[in-house]
Amino acid sequence: MIISEPKPWEEIVSHLKKGEKIFIVGCGECSTTCKTGGEREVLEVKQKLEKEGYQITGFVIPKAPCVSAQIKLELSKNKKAISEADSILVMACGLGGQSVKINDRQQKPLHIATNTLFMGGVDSTGLGFFEYCSACGNCVLELTAGICPITRCAKGLLNGPCGGQNKGKCEVDKEKDCAWVLIYEELKKQGELDLLKEIKPPRDYTKKIHPQALILK
Ligand code: SF4
Ligand code: SF4
Repeated sequence: MIISEPKPWEEIVSHLKKGEKIFIVGCGECSTTCKTGGEREVLEVKQKLEKEGYQITGFVIPKAPCVSAQIKLELSKNKKAISEADSILVMACGLGGQSVKINDRQQKPLHIATNTLFMGGVDSTGLGFFEYCSACGNCVLELTAGICPITRCAKGLLNGPCGGQNKGKCEVDKEKDCAWVLIYEELKKQGELDLLKEIKPPRDYTKKIHPQALILK
């Protein structure tokens, strides 16, 4: 899922004009899970904005605002409230924000209430979010015991560890485990240490040229 955090309140309101009329778009998927754009957060922001003299013409929390079909439907259901607004405040990730921009027929100016941080997994408490994959376009998990060196090694090394690991901790951030020591331990358990002898060639960075697209046939 896409992990986001709320922007500081002062930053959000610094972009609003006095008494601005605002329609709010939340997100029922990732931003609900990381508590940046679910119902509770949308209602809290609505209340705070109203208290500061802004008028909220309405709000909607599509299941996934990054999916065009969904956001289009929700925006059209709320056509009147959006037409009464000066702008739309998006409480979703950067994908959600741009999807609103692409699909809002009224082309209202956008305000963005979150910072999008990374693609991450959620731990069993539901409160911890961890970056495990950077979508490099050429997955090597098969060779690294299911632990991603591109994302979890601070240097993104394809052949590790570097000389800096100390007692299993990373030299860049001593609080974090060295990903390559984790990979070594895991491969050892699996009797697959030979995989470490294969020198992996440099990454194919053409797989990360932006913007990317995938069109299924
Ligand atoms: S190697 Fe890492 S960054 Fe690349 S696709 Fe696999 S998990 Fe994602
Ligand atoms: S200590 Fe380990 S995780 Fe840190 S940069 Fe070196 S190889 Fe990567």
